[in-house]
Amino acid sequence: MSELALRARKLDEADELAPLRARFVVDDVVYLDGNSLGALPAHVPDRLADVVRRQWGELRIRSWEESGWWTAPERIGDRIAPLVGAAPGQIVVGDSTSVNVFKALVAAVRIAGEGRDEILVDATTFPTDGYIAGSAARMTGCSLRAVAPDEVRAALSGRTAAVLLNHVDYRTGRLYDLPALTAAVREAGAVSVWDLCHSAGALPVGLDEHGVDLAVGCTYKYLNGGPGSPAYLYVRRDLQDRFDSPLPGWNSHVEPFGMRGAYEPAPGALRGRVGTPDILSMLALEAALEVWDGVPIEAVREKSLALTDFFLECVGEYVPDGRVEPVTPLAHAERGSQVALRCAHAGDAGDVMKRLIERGVVGDYRAPDILRFGFTPLYVGFGDVERAGRVLGEVLGA
Ligand SMILES: *Cc1c(COP(=O)(O)O)cnc(C)c1O
Repeated sequence: MSELALRARKLDEADELAPLRARFVVDDVVYLDGNSLGALPAHVPDRLADVVRRQWGELRIRSWEESGWWTAPERIGDRIAPLVGAAPGQIVVGDSTSVNVFKALVAAVRIAGEGRDEILVDATTFPTDGYIAGSAARMTGCSLRAVAPDEVRAALSGRTAAVLLNHVDYRTGRLYDLPALTAAVREAGAVSVWDLCHSAGALPVGLDEHGVDLAVGCTYKYLNGGPGSPAYLYVRRDLQDRFDSPLPGWNSHVEPFGMRGAYEPAPGALRGRVGTPDILSMLALEAALEVWDGVPIEAVREKSLALTDFFLECVGEYVPDGRVEPVTPLAHAERGSQVALRCAHAGDAGDVMKRLIERGVVGDYRAPDILRFGFTPLYVGFGDVERAGRVLGEVLGA
């Protein structure tokens, strides 16, 4: 056994989160794509079968009350809240991340008020956020400026209405300084909107502690909610009265069954609701979130950094020099829970990943040259990491 394989075994033995792996459906594939689609928690299929067969099949319409369907968006929001450092009553679950980016950004501009007519957007953002920011800007009469997160401070001015940032860059895995950037946005009198897709469930976010205004995130990555599971929207408590949604549906009406002609928003986070929630996906997510009970996010972060450190070490040891170069920062303070490697020959990434998958190591790639490996501490171990590094070395050495 190699020195790295022995180390992996010792690290797995000492890993306090290791027992959680048994709560997921895992096989002998090394699954490093939980940053795109989290693995299935083992108890979810039976729970979902109960939702379909009993709650829908037998109780039918009664389930809106008796099975708690109507209040699921707020209830599940409160379940996500501790994972992102939010007190209860500030998160509502529903719709996709894209739709929530739209709600949050337009509402942010409306909160910012008169005289502020510029939206700043992360120039390296996941594309959907950028597209939606463009539309939100046109609708609100703002101009849109794309700036690298490092340049946000310099770009802020008395004109800035809202700033939309990604907490972790989906390509490079770089983690941005949410506390400092949020403070800078606030100082400039603008409203911050954070996209937590690649950080929630992987590291502490501290929404309340750092005074974030609005945030959105998906639940099918590190939160394992299932394909297309609904996203969430955080509206800080003291902004809720001023949250003026651009999608004011009947579900966020103060009296949804009053069927009134005029819209009057309900108080609280449920202002972020729109129409009838996607109950099957939502309740699969609710069941999936149970694996987090008693799991401190700090312990998850600690293991995540140990996994990515160890992967970088394995890559350094096993992969022939010059074939790949890490683009994920080495500094812990700037690293999310994935490692991105740039292939020396552009266009190689798709082919390399195909060969990795054939050998039981599943990551993904982003054209043209980035290999992405996501590390999900709840079900990935150090033995997996060593094997992934070794197989990558074999594929690139061949
Ligand atoms: C995954 C991801 C999304 C996905 O948005 P959907 O509406 O769920 O398709 C959006 N933003 C970021 C930063 C992401 O990583």
